[in-house]
Amino acid sequence: MPQSNRLVMPLAALVAGAAFATSAAADELNVYSARHYDSDQALYDAFTEETGIEVNVLEGDSDQLIQRIEREGQASPADVMMTVDAGRLWRAEQEDIFASVSSEVLAERLPDSMRHPDGKWFGFSQRVRAIFYNPDEVDAGELNTYEDLADPRYEGQVCIRSSNNIYNQSLLASLIAHHGAEEAEAWAQGVVDNMARDPEGGDTDQIKGVASGECDIAVANHYYYVRLLESDNEADREVAESVEIMFPNQDDRGAHVNIGGAGVVQNAPHHDNAVRFLEFLASDEAQAIFASGNHEFPVVDGVDIDEVLASWGDFKRDELNVSVLGENNPEAIKIFDRVGWR
Ligand code: FE
Repeated sequence: MPQSNRLVMPLAALVAGAAFATSAAADELNVYSARHYDSDQALYDAFTEETGIEVNVLEGDSDQLIQRIEREGQASPADVMMTVDAGRLWRAEQEDIFASVSSEVLAERLPDSMRHPDGKWFGFSQRVRAIFYNPDEVDAGELNTYEDLADPRYEGQVCIRSSNNIYNQSLLASLIAHHGAEEAEAWAQGVVDNMARDPEGGDTDQIKGVASGECDIAVANHYYYVRLLESDNEADREVAESVEIMFPNQDDRGAHVNIGGAGVVQNAPHHDNAVRFLEFLASDEAQAIFASGNHEFPVVDGVDIDEVLASWGDFKRDELNVSVLGENNPEAIKIFDRVGWR
């Protein structure tokens, strides 16, 4: 099996602009990735096997990779940039990093809502911002929506991470899109009023907060829960087993979904290879690998999914175009500031 060259760069090296070994050879592809899943290697290997194109990978933090591409300018070896969350893809787009790609394969395979309207970037996996609760304390029939998180009946019961996290920014961006900024602000204020504690920790810590009794309700992306469920650590599994997961808004617009995605970089030295890579990511084979690496949902229908995910059955997903999450990001940040959501 062909091995691609995977270069995991420490942050300091990224900042210093250490050289990225590459050439303009036609049978190469340079991927800058902010994804850190071991399974991604399987993705690159499968692409190389199918096309003969060698993949060089530079991994780093999303914002650092964006800065690096900007700094490298015309001379950047970057062909593709991959990251998670539409809000981050939007940031890259705002820095004019992406070329517009028109591809019949991508247009056909990916749902409209999962790609940028001008082909600047594309979503290849889906993550749900789910609600978790203690079934002994919360009546499952009463907690159904993101809007419910702001209901005064849950005062002092909600655990949710800080507002500088892109996942919450994108969630609020979706509420702005559906309800308008004013109502979205009232919602954010309501959630702040209902917080069980000042925001701390990551998504997993919110779920653990429910298990420990610090809160009765938490918000987290679904795959953090699956990680706990499938953990080698018994205490983690007990955490997962003591909470219930709920996909909100099933009676109206559906659960808020975000994406893992990628775009072709402007002036990519291997533009055609880059487009070919994105088309490959939309294939059944790649979709299964791409999504399963982090227990995410594929964006293409009919692809095998993780056992746990399959056990949840069908559910309704918000079909708001993910690019709106980026467009409303600055407004979301301002609202968080105003309501004192730290
Ligand atoms: Fe995450």
